[in-house]
Amino acid sequence: MRIEVARSAGFCFGVKRAVQLAFEAARTTGGPVYTLGPIIHNPEVVAELARRGVRAVGDPRRIKNGAVIIRSHGVHPRVLASLQRRGLAIIDATCPFVTKAQRAAAALRDEGRQVVIVGEPHHPEVVALKGYAGRNSLICDRRPVRVKSRIGVLSQTTVSQEDFIGALLSFGRQAADIHIFNTICNATQIRQQETMDLAQRSDLMIVVGGRNSANTSRLAELCRTVGKPTRSVETEQELRPAWFAGVRKVGVAAGASTPASTVERVVRRIRGLTTGKTKAESRKRGGKHSVRGN
Ligand code: SF4
Repeated sequence: MRIEVARSAGFCFGVKRAVQLAFEAARTTGGPVYTLGPIIHNPEVVAELARRGVRAVGDPRRIKNGAVIIRSHGVHPRVLASLQRRGLAIIDATCPFVTKAQRAAAALRDEGRQVVIVGEPHHPEVVALKGYAGRNSLICDRRPVRVKSRIGVLSQTTVSQEDFIGALLSFGRQAADIHIFNTICNATQIRQQETMDLAQRSDLMIVVGGRNSANTSRLAELCRTVGKPTRSVETEQELRPAWFAGVRKVGVAAGASTPASTVERVVRRIRGLTTGKTKAESRKRGGKHSVRGN
């Protein structure tokens, strides 16, 4: 059986940067270090950071002193202002692409437009973006929304182009004056396209990533839209030998918050399961496996 790993599988630029900043803070900051929510949607990385003294906290009011890392999704400006007022050290790991979207939202708001954000209402990036977009702003998640006649439109960075265009078409029927910022992240587009291409030439897709990672779930969804059987796993432990019966080629994709080491372990385990080799044997073979036949 052949195994092919999507070239873009694993950390994107923004996540890599945030994780590096968090590990650096663990090494160099004397006092307590917190992240507002898990730094990435990956339990293994979050647990490793916790072991090194970087704790994820849901409620910013619980942080009394020390340093706070703002994760790649960014944070609502009100929360940021309150952290600053309380004299906490801020380590800003907001992805520069997300910062750009926040600036665009503020610019559209300042033009006096109703800002419409295409994305998932409860996603932390969208919650933060809405803070910059102002009180009149709206979030559009695949369901139709009524918009005013003068609007500004942007999106969550991980939205698919199809969803963004679909939303724009529906706004075009209602609004007379529309200013559009395309804030979809290139890394997301490339990853989604590569994953769909890989799904098309595979018999089975394994999508690796945290269950609460929106971009990982989206990859699995896209694989299914091209009609391929798809399994989502967080770790290699979840793989089942029965999934691979009759499969000649398996594609492996991973979300932006999945470490390369997790992808490698998944590939090793697939190879071990499908060749009947023991874990130790398959580890010994290790090495590169971007495309490999057995
Ligand atoms: S997906 Fe794009 S916008 Fe989001 S963190 Fe990664 S690089 Fe930044």
